[in-house]
Formats: sequence, structure tokens, C-alpha cells
Amino acid sequence: MQATQRKWFSITKRWWHKATDLTSNAAAQFLQSCVICHDAITEHNRSIHAQKICSLCWQCLPWIDQHCGTCGLPLAVGAIQCGVCANQRLSYERCFCPLRYDFPLDVLIRNFKDARQWPVKSALVDLLNSAHQELDFSQFGLIAAVPSHWRKRWQRGFNHSYELAVTLAKQHNIPLVTDFKRVKFGQDQRLLTRKERLKNLENTFFCKQDLSGQHVLLLDDVVTTGATIESAAKALVAAGAKPPVVLAIARTPARQKPTTR
Ligand SMILES: [Zn+2]
Ligand SMILES: [Zn+2]
Repeated sequence: MQATQRKWFSITKRWWHKATDLTSNAAAQFLQSCVICHDAITEHNRSIHAQKICSLCWQCLPWIDQHCGTCGLPLAVGAIQCGVCANQRLSYERCFCPLRYDFPLDVLIRNFKDARQWPVKSALVDLLNSAHQELDFSQFGLIAAVPSHWRKRWQRGFNHSYELAVTLAKQHNIPLVTDFKRVKFGQDQRLLTRKERLKNLENTFFCKQDLSGQHVLLLDDVVTTGATIESAAKALVAAGAKPPVVLAIARTPARQKPTTR
């Protein structure tokens, strides 16, 4: 294939993806089907908690019963704090994640982040709102999303956490922190331990906005080791905020040190 043909093929492919994104998103909006099981939502399976998740799927989601009161890590029944939080001071007040990062939630989050399925966004915001039983949203003066680097935003087309934060902020009438940036691109963190991630994330976030005395709700989609939220919270505190409360949709369970390195 010649260079010109390759170029046109790539442009056509890109537009085809955009068109299919639009039609599938429009169909899902119109039909009001559950974003997990894809059944039509009717009066028989409508959930009181979410518009785009049916009542059965809502019940079957991997809800966390017992968690660390500080970082939100799922714990065995009876435990109140994990080993990490018992032994070190964190830059955030507490982190709350209503769900475990497990099937089908992992698929749902990836469908939003990577496949740009916009109807999933409102379902994810409804999952964040399920935290209202433990979190009083009216206590927060500002909402901040964990920023992504501009290169990542350029690759993906958007910052998924920011998109969730915009909707949540509108619903609760809370202003957003606007001048909060990720200034370092950083290496892939998936194989790093918490300690290595913290080192890797040093001076990664920077907030130009004066947050003196503000109580901020810091939003993320998934918390893994807690290193990213720790680093982002540190930047908000450096801008004058009180230690923020973190809210994420899901938390991964404690894991072993990776054996591949
Ligand atoms: Zn369903
Ligand atoms: Zn903890």
C-alpha cells in the first residue's frame, strides 16, 4: 500500500470509529438499557440508585463491606485499619471507595476510559454518589480530579476522572479546582511497588490555585496502592488545602510484591 493510500485508510478508520462510537452511544441513550447486562430498564428492574444500572446488577456489584477506615483497602471482617495506614502519616484525611475493582466493574470502567462509552459515565457517577451514606458532600468547598498528563489526554482524548468530577460537581453545586496539573509524564507504574510508585510520583502534581483553608474532595476512578492519591493530595496540601478526602469508585485488594522484577 502506498503512503497516500495508507494515510486515507487511517483517516477513514478513525472516522469510522467516531461514527460507531456516536451511534452506539446514541442507541444506548435512547433505549435506556443497563450498561452491565444490556437488558432494557423497565419498571420491574429499575434501580432507585442508578439510571443506567438495573436493580439486579446493582445488587451483584462487588461492594466492599469491611475496609480500612483511612485508605479504603478491603479488609477482613473485624479489622479497622490496614498495616500501611497504622504505620505512616498520609497527606489525605481518608479515602473512600465503595467497590472492589473486580468483574463486572473493571469492564465497565475500561469501557468508559478506553472505549469512550459515554452512557457508562452517568453509571459511574451514580456509583460515586453511592458514597453519600458515608460522605456528606456538603462539607466540601471544592472538588478536584486527579490530573492526567497532557500526553495521556492527547492519546485518550480526555481525562476520565475530570469528566466524572465535572458531573459530580454540577450535581452537588460544588466548584472545581481548575489549576491542578500533572507536570511529569512518569513511567508505567503497573509493576512497581507502593514505595517505588511514591518515588516515581515525586513532584508529579502541582496546583497553582490558592486553596488556603479549603476542604477538597479529591476524585479518582481506581485506587491501587494509594501512591497516586498520596502524591496528588500532597500537592493540594502544598497549595494550602486541608488534607483532602479522596473518593474513588473502586479499590484493588492488597497484593503481593510483583515477582516479575
Ligand atoms: Zn443489569
Ligand atoms: Zn489503610
